[in-house]
Amino acid sequence: MNHTQTTIKAEVSLEGVGLHTGNSSKIIFRPAPANSGIRFFRTDLPQTPVIPARLDFVVATVRGTNLGLNGAKVHTVEHVLSACTGVGLDNVDILVCANEPPILDGSSLPFVKALLKTGLARFPDHPPRLFHLNEEVTYVDGSARYRAVPAEKFEIRSTLIHDHPLMPKMTLEMRFDQQSYISELAGARTFCFEHEVAFLRAQGLAQGGSLDNAIVIGKDKFHTNSEGLRYRDEFVRHKTLDLIGDLTLLGRSIFKMRIEAECLGHAHNIEFAKRLRLAALKQRKNTQPMEAAQP
Ligand SMILES: [Zn+2]
Repeated sequence: MNHTQTTIKAEVSLEGVGLHTGNSSKIIFRPAPANSGIRFFRTDLPQTPVIPARLDFVVATVRGTNLGLNGAKVHTVEHVLSACTGVGLDNVDILVCANEPPILDGSSLPFVKALLKTGLARFPDHPPRLFHLNEEVTYVDGSARYRAVPAEKFEIRSTLIHDHPLMPKMTLEMRFDQQSYISELAGARTFCFEHEVAFLRAQGLAQGGSLDNAIVIGKDKFHTNSEGLRYRDEFVRHKTLDLIGDLTLLGRSIFKMRIEAECLGHAHNIEFAKRLRLAALKQRKNTQPMEAAQP
């Protein structure tokens, strides 16, 4: 576990198309000072608007998590953010030259590889940004069920339930650390069902989607690139990767809790993260000394 905050040692960049917008895009990760957190910069817009990667700036959660501030937006931030938490990165400036980062292979692995290639630098005087839970937090909406309980480490049990013959109930149980993130989650790619494709396209989504960056689940077969499935249960792994990306919006890089989640999706992830934030704020208030509470 990191005992200090981190940033990257040097700038690193990646290029490709955005999944939903289909726009060609470039993303540049740049070292950032301690306590600055993760921030997106739209370098293609006048004055280079800054959008902090925090829950307060989530503007949409349809098929991805979109951030925005004063009209400037960044779509589909979850895989990039997941990679940041996956490698233990606290502070980084993320420059994008379009309204969506490149989707690359549909997983977070290309981002992870780029970040690890440049390496992490540490801020010895700054303790890591820790998310610590003291009480149970639950969130239920329809078939989605989330529960977090205090724990010493970050543990996740996620379950996917789809009414589809190729998609039996899948459960993934893991203890999160950099190694398990890289070997168990980072390579898992995004997916959709074949019957959704036309609808998504009509909604202006998945414009950059192809078998190079997504798995399409057909009636009786998986449509993939020549690689086939990377994991038999790649789907539940990808949903867990997404969850970690969305939880990164809490502005913390280390989590001490156990999460059990069923039927995960971005809208639910964000609502759940807001409840986690509320519990953490309440905790902080309760532990503040009396004098500090005085006006
Ligand atoms: Zn995803």
